[in-house]
Amino acid sequence: MTKLVARLILAMLILPVAGAVFLFMAFAIFGNTGPPSALSLSLMWLVEYAVIGTYWVLLWRSTVRWTRERLLGTFGVTLAALLCGGIGAGFIVEVSHEDIALGILVGGGLVPIVWVFGTVLVWKETSQERFERVKSYGTDTVSCPVCGYNMTGLKEARCPECGGSFTVDELLTAQQNREEELEQS
Ligand SMILES: [Zn+2]
Repeated sequence: MTKLVARLILAMLILPVAGAVFLFMAFAIFGNTGPPSALSLSLMWLVEYAVIGTYWVLLWRSTVRWTRERLLGTFGVTLAALLCGGIGAGFIVEVSHEDIALGILVGGGLVPIVWVFGTVLVWKETSQERFERVKSYGTDTVSCPVCGYNMTGLKEARCPECGGSFTVDELLTAQQNREEELEQS
């Protein structure tokens, strides 16, 4: 099993892990006193966010290039996720005739969903970063001008990943331009 396959399996397991932690807290810690109160639900979500955040960051930390923009983006995603949870909770409280516990239960669940989606978008390698990474393998490489896929050794000038189709001179010009950009930066 390669590292990437292991990471993908662990990424898929985040949902069952989070669900198991939530059920454990609901039944083992807060379950004896009837339906959980708004306070215990809030505490459960806080623990849940800590578990999901730690799990996700530890899983992808070494594969993400932590630029300033990415750190700021991650902070923005966290705020946006909390905001979505707040709006969702407010909406549920409104339509359920002031059932605050239900609002927290449902709204709280939106936060990790929005956060995980957001981090995927923010942490994803840009095509320029991919270009630089491919470039660092060796000097004689040709990358896709659109997505940065390593097209070295292909028998046709069509990117197998994004489907972009180019002429040979377009590929060479794009490669030169990017290399010049890289030298200037
Ligand atoms: Zn491509």
